[in-house]
Amino acid sequence: MRSVVTFHYTLRDPSGQVLDTSVGAKPVTYLEGAGQIIDGLDEQLRGAAAGLKTRVQVLAAKAYGERDAAQVQRIKRTQLPVEGELNVGDQFQTDSDAFAPVVTVAGIDGDEVLLDANHPLAGVDLTFDVEIIGTRAATPEELHHGHAHGADGVGHCD
Ligand SMILES: [Zn+2]
Repeated sequence: MRSVVTFHYTLRDPSGQVLDTSVGAKPVTYLEGAGQIIDGLDEQLRGAAAGLKTRVQVLAAKAYGERDAAQVQRIKRTQLPVEGELNVGDQFQTDSDAFAPVVTVAGIDGDEVLLDANHPLAGVDLTFDVEIIGTRAATPEELHHGHAHGADGVGHCD
């Protein structure tokens, strides 16, 4: 039986810097094994009960993947659909689609630009401090859709 889990998390990088947290905002709700959260976290939270507070280490390969050098490309500045100044570290989407990949400007060399399409957290081992808020059995509709319908199971699809 698959569960729907609701949890709060604080995400840190290997230096202990907080990268993201849900604490003080809405907790995250997901359907187990549906790819709604990163694989390594999903796997390690299987069977967790409400009230559990735990620290979960997720290696890069089970989080946002290892860095791939082939994802770094050199292109002409004029090929970029970006107006105005460009700086190393700038990030933008490759398309107007909200889910289009994000690329990062890794370098600027004259009229050429190095674009890195790796996820910003690729190659980074992650530590999650997790508090399980609640778990319940997934509804048939959720299993059919492949995602959770909110903490109480009566929410609408995102
Ligand atoms: Zn749905």
